[in-house]
Amino acid sequence: MKYDVVIIGGGAAGLSSAVYSQRAMLKTVVVEQEYMGTGQIAESPRVDNYLGFFGLDGAELGDKFRSHAEALGTEFLNDEVTEIISLESSNGYKIKPSEGDVLETKTVIFSAGCKRKNLGIKGEKEFSARGISFCAVCDGAFYKNKTAAVIGAGDTAFSDALYLANIASKVYIIARRDKFRAGNSLVDAAKKRGNIEILTNTVPIEFTGEKSVDGIILNANGNEKKLAVNGIFIAVGSVPNTALLSGIAKLDESGYVVADEDGVTSAAGIFAAGDVRTKRLRQVITAAADGANCAVSAEKYIRENF
Ligand SMILES: Cc1cc2nc3c(=O)[nH]c(=O)nc-3n(C[C@H](O)[C@H](O)[C@H](O)COP(=O)(O)OP(=O)(O)OC[C@H]3O[C@@H](n4cnc5c(N)ncnc54)[C@H](O)[C@@H]3O)c2cc1C
Repeated sequence: MKYDVVIIGGGAAGLSSAVYSQRAMLKTVVVEQEYMGTGQIAESPRVDNYLGFFGLDGAELGDKFRSHAEALGTEFLNDEVTEIISLESSNGYKIKPSEGDVLETKTVIFSAGCKRKNLGIKGEKEFSARGISFCAVCDGAFYKNKTAAVIGAGDTAFSDALYLANIASKVYIIARRDKFRAGNSLVDAAKKRGNIEILTNTVPIEFTGEKSVDGIILNANGNEKKLAVNGIFIAVGSVPNTALLSGIAKLDESGYVVADEDGVTSAAGIFAAGDVRTKRLRQVITAAADGANCAVSAEKYIRENF
């Protein structure tokens, strides 16, 4: 087999896997389809929570990850993986890219990340990273003693609101209905917080502002009104890029690959790292840690099975 490890996805998880597998002398290739090979952190204008690199532009941080993997001799293939085929006879896998040749490998590190869901309303794109964020843990600190709104009614929305309530002076939760998908304990905790207000039967129609966002036009119980806020957190869910593993490895009810910190999945020789796997905190630092663990798991698997 040509490769010891094929890494699918070149974000923090995949590139960290590459660093560890190159250093373990495993023959490795990273297959990445976009983002200049740096993962979705390239979309962030400023990262303040990755250890050792305070205040870096996300694209610059991603470039550093990629350069590090390159410096260790990692091979890169700019292509989209379209299929993973199990080679029953030899314990390995065939990886089909959309254009290049099929790759044969002993192990796969699957680190294809997630796509966040958007609302698709006016102002959402324009003010993205200018007052609109998709991550409270990433950007909450910008709203100290300010007013923030969280849009959504699931666990993420309520957790984000509770996280922000420690920072912002006032937090609105904007929920489409008067029933919430979030668990009761989160909802109860939010209701008890003096600075959280839950607006039910309320739908955002448009985000307003000049240079940055200054408010939301809402349809509240059939009436239009404007709510002034400094920051907006959209928490209507994300979709893991795990279609390739459907029928191969166990996914949870939301489509995340079931795997612990060691990255071991239900499919022998396939390891999952980063935002694609079941976990609580989807961030660059946890993705990088997963990548390292997966490479060590892959090395052990190869030692024991080939
Ligand atoms: C706007 C924004 C701001 C953020 N801010 C922060 C922050 O401040 N701090 C922080 O820690 N986190 C932040 N995050 C979250 C962080 O970016 C993710 O947690 C992190 O990138 C996850 O890394 P990953 O390697 O698991 O996935 P990703 O970075 O998503 O990388 C996955 C890669 O896989 C590729 N891929 C997918 N499918 C295929 C395929 N079939 N074939 C080939 N390639 C494929 C994708 O193109 C992508 O590049 C932010 C995210 C966004 C969008």
